[in-house]
Amino acid sequence: MPIQLLRPEVSSKIAAGEVIERPASAVKELVENALDAGASRIRIDIRGGGIEYISVADDGGGIPTDQVELAFRRFATSKLSSTEDLEAVSTLGFRGEALPSIAAIARVELRTRTPDADVGTIIELEDGAVQSISPAGAPPGTRVALRHLFRNLPARRKFLRTVSAEQRRIHLVAAHYAMAYPHVAFELTVDKGRGFSSPGSGDLRDVVAAVYGPKVARQMLEIAGDEQTSNLDNRPDDRAIVVSGLIGPPSLDRANRTYVSLFANRRWVQNRSLSYAIEQAYHGFMAERRYPVAVLCVSVPFDEVDVNAHPAKAEIRFRRENRVFGAVQRAVRRTLTEQAPVPHIDQRAINRHPGSHPPAAPSVPRPSAFWPTAPFAAATTPAAPITGYHSIITPSDGASSTTSDQPAAPPAPMPTPGGALPILRVLGQVQNTYLIAEGPDGMYMIDQHAAHERVVFEQTLARAASGTPEVQSLLEPAVVELDPAGMELVKISADAIAGMGFILETFGESAVIIRGVPPLLDQTDHAAALADVLDLMQDGGGFETWEERAAYSIACHGAIRAGKVLSRDEMQELIRQLEACAQPNSCPHGRPTMIHMSTYQLANEFGRT
Ligand code: ADP
Ligand code: MG
Repeated sequence: MPIQLLRPEVSSKIAAGEVIERPASAVKELVENALDAGASRIRIDIRGGGIEYISVADDGGGIPTDQVELAFRRFATSKLSSTEDLEAVSTLGFRGEALPSIAAIARVELRTRTPDADVGTIIELEDGAVQSISPAGAPPGTRVALRHLFRNLPARRKFLRTVSAEQRRIHLVAAHYAMAYPHVAFELTVDKGRGFSSPGSGDLRDVVAAVYGPKVARQMLEIAGDEQTSNLDNRPDDRAIVVSGLIGPPSLDRANRTYVSLFANRRWVQNRSLSYAIEQAYHGFMAERRYPVAVLCVSVPFDEVDVNAHPAKAEIRFRRENRVFGAVQRAVRRTLTEQAPVPHIDQRAINRHPGSHPPAAPSVPRPSAFWPTAPFAAATTPAAPITGYHSIITPSDGASSTTSDQPAAPPAPMPTPGGALPILRVLGQVQNTYLIAEGPDGMYMIDQHAAHERVVFEQTLARAASGTPEVQSLLEPAVVELDPAGMELVKISADAIAGMGFILETFGESAVIIRGVPPLLDQTDHAAALADVLDLMQDGGGFETWEERAAYSIACHGAIRAGKVLSRDEMQELIRQLEACAQPNSCPHGRPTMIHMSTYQLANEFGRT
C-alpha cells in the first residue's frame, strides 16, 4: 500500500484511543472538565460498567451557546493559548482533546447553560459528527451523557475487561478525584444503585471515610506541616513544595499498594518513585511486603511539573524529582515518628535478615499475618514466621530456572504444563525454603511456597467448581467492618467467596459476619484474613474470573511460607499433592515451582560425560 494520509475519521479514532482507553478514562476526562469549570457538585451515573451509559453532571460555569460546537473540535480549549501557557498548566485539561475523543467513540449528548444565560444548549453527536444542536432548558452547569461506548470500535471493546472490572475502575476514578477535591461533593450511582458519595465538606478525612470507611478514617494521621514552607527565605530552591494529606498508622497495613494514592497539584498520578518514597518512609515501621494506606497530596509550582508527558495525563514529570522525593519522604517519616511513636519491628523482618536482630526487639506476631500452623494433616512443627514473601504481587519477577543455562542436553524430561510429575522421593530441605527430591531422572529442587500455592490454587478451584468447598465453621463468628469497596466486592463476588469456603453474612451497611473460613485460614485472625483476601481479589493478580482470583488469594495467603521448617512427612505430603496437580511445574503466576537437574546434567557438571 502506498503511503497515504489517513482519513480524518480514522485518525481521530486512533487519537481518541490514546485518550479514551476505557470507560473509566471517559469518566476521568468528564470529571476533570467539571472540576476545571469550578463545580461544587459532580454527579456520575453509570450503567453496564460504563460501557452502556455514562453521565457526568456538574454545577460549574457551563459553556456559552456559541462555543458548544467548538468544544468538540480537536485542540479546541479555553484553558491555554500559547506554548508559554503549556509551561505552567494550572487546569486539569489543556489539550482540547477529550470531548472530540469521546465523541469519536460514543454517542454524546451534552446539555449546558452558563449561570447568566436564560436558556441553555443541547447538542448531540454520533461518530464524532454533530447530529443536532438546539436551545434547551437546563440548570446552570453541564451534563454530558455517553451511550454505547466503543460500539464502533469492536477491537477496543473486546479489550475491555468485565463489566465489574470496568465498574471498579470508574469507582476508583470517582473516589480519587473526591480525595483530591474534598470541597467538591461527588456522587456515583452504579446501575441506579448507590456507588459512592462524598460530602464536599472540604475535610479530606470525610472523603477518606467515604472511600475506606469511618474506622480507617479515624485512625489516619495528618501529615505534619512541612518545614520547607516556613523556610522559604533560606532555601529558595525548595520554594513551595508542600506535602499534605493523611497517612495510616503502621498498624493499618495492607497486602498491596492499591491504598496508596498520590496527587500532584490535585492530579491523581501514578509515580513509582514517589510511591517508593512513601514506602521507604515506612521502613522499620512496617513489615516487608506490607503497604500503608496513604492519601498524599504534593503541591509544586506549576512551572516545576510537566503534565504533558502522557496521553491520559496519568504520568507527570517533575523538573526536580529528587526534591519532591525528599520532601515526600521527610513529611511521611516525620509524621510517623511524631505520631506513631513505637516502631513496630516485625518478626518477619527479623527473620529475613537473621544476622541483624535488633537488641530485644519485641517480636510480637502481627494479628493480621497469615501463619498457617497446620497446613497438612501431619503437621507437627510449630509455625515459623514468614520470610521472603516474594513475587506474589508482582507476577513475574523474571526468576529463571538454572537449567536454561545448561549446555545442550538430551530431550528434557522436565514436566511440561499439564504434564504429570514423576514420583519423587524427598531428600531434605535447604534454607527451610526448598525441598530437594530425587526422581527417575535426576534431582528436583522445589520451592515449597510456590509449590503449595499451586496445590491450594488447583484444589480450591476444583472444590469451588464441584460446589463442595471445605469449610471450617467458627464456634464464635467474627464481625468484620469492611470499607465500601470491600462490601461491594463481597456482593459482586459472593459465589466465588463462598466457593472457597468463606461463609459470610452481611451485617448492616458496612460489616459482615464470618461464620466459616477455608480450613487453611482457620488458625489466623479471621477478620484480617478476610480483609487481606479481599485486597488480593481486588488486585486481581492478573486473573480474570472471580473464581480464579478467589483461589489465587487463598493460595497466596494460605500457602505454606518459605522459611518454615517441614517434617519429612510434610515434605512428602506436599510433593504428593503437587504430583496430583494438573500444572505442577509453575505457581499460579507462572513462576517455577521446581528446578530439575537431569542425570545427564549432573554428570555433565561433574565432567563425567
Ligand atoms: P480541555 O479540557 O483540554 O480544554 P476538552 O475537550 O475536555 O478539552 O474540553 C474542551 C472545552 O470545552 C474546554 O476547554 C471547556 O472550555 C469546555 N468544557 C468542556 N466540559 C465542560 C464543562 N463540564 N463545563 C464547562 N466547560 C466545559
Ligand atoms: Mg478536558
